[in-house]
Amino acid sequence: MFELNAQHIRMAQQAPDKATALAMLAESLVTDGLVAPGYLEGLKAREAQGSTYLGQGIAIPHGTPQTRDQVHVTGVRMMQFPHGVDWGDGQLTYLAIAIAAKSDEHLRILQLLTRALGESDLQQALREAREPQQILDLLQGAPQALALDEELVQLAIDAEDLEDLAWQGARMLKHMECVGAGFAGALQASQPLPLGDGLWWLNSETAVKRPGLAFVTPLQTLQLQEQPVRGLFCLASLGEGHRALLERLCDLLVAGRGQELAQATSRRAVLEALGGEVAPDWPSAQVVLANAHGLHARPAKELARLAKAYDGEIRVRVDGGAPVSAKSLSRLLALGARRGQTLEFLVEPGTPAAAALNYLIGAVQAGLGEEVEPVTASAPAPAGAARVTAISLVDPSEQLPLAPGDRAQAVAAAPGLAVGPAHVVAPQHFDYPATGAGAAAERQRLDAALAAVRADIEALIARSEASALREIFLTHLEMLEDPDLQQGIAARLKANASAAAAWDAQIEEAASQQEALHDKLLAERAADLRDVGRRVLAQLCGVESAREPEEPYVLVMDEVGPGDVARLDRERVCGILTARGGASSHSAIVARALGIPAIVGAGRRVLDLAPRSVLLLDGDKGTLEIAPDASRIDAVQREREVQAERRRAAEARRFESATTCDGHHVEIAVNLGDTAQAAAAVEQGAEAVGLLRTELVFMSHDSAPDEAAQEAEYRRALDGLAGKPLVVRTLDVGGDKPLPYLPLPPEENPFLGIRGIRLTLRRPELLETQLRALLKAADGRPLRIMFPMIGRVEEWRQARDILDRLRQEIPTTDLQVGIMIEVPSAALLAPVLAPEVDFFSVGTNDLTQYTLAIDRGHPLLSGEADGLHPSVLRLIDMTVRAAHAHGKWVGVCGELAADPLAVPVLVGLGVDELSVSARSVPLVKARVRELELRRVQSCAARALELGTAAEVRQSVEALR
Ligand code: PEP
Ligand code: MG
Repeated sequence: MFELNAQHIRMAQQAPDKATALAMLAESLVTDGLVAPGYLEGLKAREAQGSTYLGQGIAIPHGTPQTRDQVHVTGVRMMQFPHGVDWGDGQLTYLAIAIAAKSDEHLRILQLLTRALGESDLQQALREAREPQQILDLLQGAPQALALDEELVQLAIDAEDLEDLAWQGARMLKHMECVGAGFAGALQASQPLPLGDGLWWLNSETAVKRPGLAFVTPLQTLQLQEQPVRGLFCLASLGEGHRALLERLCDLLVAGRGQELAQATSRRAVLEALGGEVAPDWPSAQVVLANAHGLHARPAKELARLAKAYDGEIRVRVDGGAPVSAKSLSRLLALGARRGQTLEFLVEPGTPAAAALNYLIGAVQAGLGEEVEPVTASAPAPAGAARVTAISLVDPSEQLPLAPGDRAQAVAAAPGLAVGPAHVVAPQHFDYPATGAGAAAERQRLDAALAAVRADIEALIARSEASALREIFLTHLEMLEDPDLQQGIAARLKANASAAAAWDAQIEEAASQQEALHDKLLAERAADLRDVGRRVLAQLCGVESAREPEEPYVLVMDEVGPGDVARLDRERVCGILTARGGASSHSAIVARALGIPAIVGAGRRVLDLAPRSVLLLDGDKGTLEIAPDASRIDAVQREREVQAERRRAAEARRFESATTCDGHHVEIAVNLGDTAQAAAAVEQGAEAVGLLRTELVFMSHDSAPDEAAQEAEYRRALDGLAGKPLVVRTLDVGGDKPLPYLPLPPEENPFLGIRGIRLTLRRPELLETQLRALLKAADGRPLRIMFPMIGRVEEWRQARDILDRLRQEIPTTDLQVGIMIEVPSAALLAPVLAPEVDFFSVGTNDLTQYTLAIDRGHPLLSGEADGLHPSVLRLIDMTVRAAHAHGKWVGVCGELAADPLAVPVLVGLGVDELSVSARSVPLVKARVRELELRRVQSCAARALELGTAAEVRQSVEALR
């Protein structure tokens, strides 16, 4: 735990040079058991990378990532050098603060020091101090400003009494690191003071780290001492920081404006009334901080330096918090920004600063003088190294609160329409002591909590019908048992942490490590870790979940953990809306498995929606409407009934073939990742597996699965298909989704790098093992093998030659070999490739991304990556013509194949097979049965002549 403590300061030390000072500091860390002796090398290496001199006579030596494993316990030890030590470039250090930290916890120290750094005469005072306490007072004693920003205001919460409101207020203050354990209890025990207009005041000084004011209002007016309760102020008081605010509040009440606060519907209105930190309505842009140790001294110094070069104000804030001046080093450090957090820059319009916005974003992205590994954003930004999505230019409408009649666009995550009142569940905050009652007692508490959560998860597994859900919960069970996690916790308990503190810190460390991996799927598992983490913490802290409304509602959360969704009553949750998350996040997968319409990544403003405001969400299009009028709701309800009826009818006829009314048959196949699902897909009406994504077979192993393990997997799929064809795609990883056991150098443009066939041709042993396993599993059954990401004819020929050689060794009777058409060059060369292959399968997800040059996961642009764009259709047309000219067949296995407006066009272009998710199979079959080949052929021919995807969609609509 990082706290500045007088016992950890050695006064009046002397060192002739920096090397000696570092050795002395390392020695004190070793003696106190914080680090192993090898940590000194880390201190030296870190200084070699760049001086840790911070300013004002203070240096903060610390280790490097390589010496993190030398740290036993995190903490600091300080030495005063009254004669100064030259820390490089003539900068004299009078106080050295040696940090032992496993990750970026040292940012906390920087936050503690920032007030001190703003003081002009600190250096001299540090030099002259005689007692450790004097040093502490100097570091911490400067007057502190009162924290009051959007994170400290919560409106219309579902509270039963003033006590509930006070808990909420205390939680926000804790979350903002204004208070520590003990504050909430002391606040509850203090005497509530009525201010008039239904406003109340509670105040405590216990466990306050920095002064802060929280304001909370209840959903319905409460009663206390026979007076109404419409709002509660919770003050964490320390010093005189809140005096100005109190005066302003009194003026407001005297002027009869208390109602403005009691009835406020937006956080901004409250802050404006109270004079709190309100983000200005200025041009802004965001960037994800990628520096390994966050915005620590070196990059912060660089940022302040760059910002100072421009006249006009430049402010920056972290994850929607209060903005600070980017020109002030101390304020930047006080942000405590960590790797992976989002910095938002706001620039004063009409000044040179405004023109510097993009430059500053670029500088942060480039690492502010440090080498950086790009962050895999959890959501909605897609994974990938150094892709343009690390910066997301903020859509101006995103800044405004959502109001009745507004429409917003987010990421479509699970299909269907939902209408219902919003049930906003705010993130839970947990209050717990940092230290415990001894390792044994805390271990017992933790074990009891783990057992309770385990039992809860086991019950969920038993209850879950969807296998996707069961898999997730089984993973959660494994997470609870994880030996690494348990080892870390044991060490923390030994260091006297409480059960909750040890658990929370260990989970956060593990989740951050996951997030740092350059793999979207693995990074999203961090959400699962945190989900499990919260459940155990809730047990330990006795925190109960928010009450559900009685009527069917739209669940609104920051990010919905899979456990949250599965616990909810399916009958009552009619839709899901999240502030964060991408289409491949677990919450989205779970929502899809449960059939709950969902849209994700809608931005933090959805958390400010007034409780019970009616929402209409469209999980197909990703659109959200706030309080639409009655006629709109009626129309949507009718549309929903039509959709439900359509699905019922389609499911009843799912085993019938997909034949147009004039007798043209199209094969409807299923896309699978899990070989165990083949039989279930046949049960949904699938006539084949049109795409087996084998990377999921590889990802479920810790090392490359051997031939026997793979053979068993592929056999399972063929067995499940009972004679129906299996189209297998060879391993398609690399670039943005590396296998953990297949280290590849990071790439600037992973989608244009070593992925798919480009990877397996460079690792032929991987490809050969997979092909052998496939050939052995076939046993005379219909097997189709295709290679992904073929862009050049040579790649296809090389892969085919390998397969031909193996076929000599392991003969099969019913094998076809083809390629995926995902790269425009392959479509353009289809006439050359067609005589050589047995079939083509068009991967429209990638083909669209490469044709339109739009990252398929881009949070702002991906909506424009429409596979019905005429340019993509022309490539599909060329592919089909070339294939048919040589008697070969063509499938489409990208998402486009299940799009109801695309089906007529694809059938009209002559596509022979559509491969879609199992749930879509009956619907796509039904859609084909409605068509008439002659009409869709002319519709497709017209589409090829159009200029935009919207025009294509319009022309198909007219066909209905
Ligand atoms: C595609 O690109 O359309 C495809 C089916 O492959 P994936 O989505 O797995 O990249
Ligand atoms: Mg693809």
